Amino acid sequence: MVMLKLDPKVLQPYLDYLKMPVSCFCPHWHGRDFEHWNKDTLEHALLLAEAAGLAGLAAMPNPEPPLTTLELCRAYMSLADRVIKKYKLSLKFYVHIGLTPNTEQVKRAIEATRLEKRIISMKAYWGRSTGSLSIIHEDQQLKVWETLAKEGYEKVVIGHHEDESLMNDKLFKRDNPITWSLLCRPEIAEISSYKKHIAMAESVKFPGRIHVAHVSTCEVVDLINAYNGPLLRPSCGVTPHHWIFDNTLLNAPYGCEVKCNPALRDETTRAGIQRLFFDGKIDLQESDHAPHSEEDKKAETPASGLACGSAWPYTVAIMRALSMNETQVKNVTFGAAVSLFGLTDKVEYKPRVPDFKKLAELQKGYHFDPFYMFKA
Ligand SMILES: [Zn+2]
Repeated sequence: MVMLKLDPKVLQPYLDYLKMPVSCFCPHWHGRDFEHWNKDTLEHALLLAEAAGLAGLAAMPNPEPPLTTLELCRAYMSLADRVIKKYKLSLKFYVHIGLTPNTEQVKRAIEATRLEKRIISMKAYWGRSTGSLSIIHEDQQLKVWETLAKEGYEKVVIGHHEDESLMNDKLFKRDNPITWSLLCRPEIAEISSYKKHIAMAESVKFPGRIHVAHVSTCEVVDLINAYNGPLLRPSCGVTPHHWIFDNTLLNAPYGCEVKCNPALRDETTRAGIQRLFFDGKIDLQESDHAPHSEEDKKAETPASGLACGSAWPYTVAIMRALSMNETQVKNVTFGAAVSLFGLTDKVEYKPRVPDFKKLAELQKGYHFDPFYMFKA
């Protein structure tokens, strides 16, 4: 595990890099609000994102109720717009619309992406995660791909890839949280899901792109890079926690706080993912910022997700301290994401030094900071 604070040789440049400006775009951000205001509010999240140096973000569709219709997407965006206007924020706000097993909903969601340019893509939960959005059965999954292909949807489908048939959440032991990684949500679940969905999308000649959210296995990164079919142009993103933390953290005193989907991986995989990321084999970093209430994390099976949005500038400093070159830093934290979602002309790359004081203050709105060890 990378513990920069423990390594004086790395510490000094890291602190220097923290003073450098950043301009990031996070395409994977779980805004809450609506009925989940107790986990977080959009107002708090957007102020935190602005302080962190984000030029823009795209919200995932699983607040409660989930963003599965044009109307709900618009209601959520206008909530964000009011905050942006009130505080004169510079960041740009987008959403991904959620897919369900209902064919009519899929058709209307496609229509929504055509009517509302700020709905930049679709998100499909191919396995159960947080919230009520998921498409579990393979016949339903194929039907979704068929509908997307038939309707000529050419933009991005973001997939949460975990194969339900290879997961068993019942094996989780609260007094031994590493079971989440070792038993409940093994690597094979992600690999299997990716292979199945590539085959399904190919079989229906899906004309859009596939983006694998929060990739956590070297196999899937390798498969994406080796892919040479005429369609799909698969891409993937990695979260800071999957490339910086290994699964031993799950058995640390605050282990349940870093429980997430997919699970943190063992050190071999973590190191492999970091190498692939630095080698340019992973397109972009996405935070998967996903705050939960203290109560949700204290449950017998704690909620999955980390409130890691404020880690953005720290992770950029870690990238720089580990000698990632500036072209690549810009690409993985901004360029690749805005290009993937067709926002190159809409979101401006405008580096600024994050407001760390404000950021620290706003992070206190969450009951735990999973990246505390990187903060002075
Ligand atoms: Zn997520």
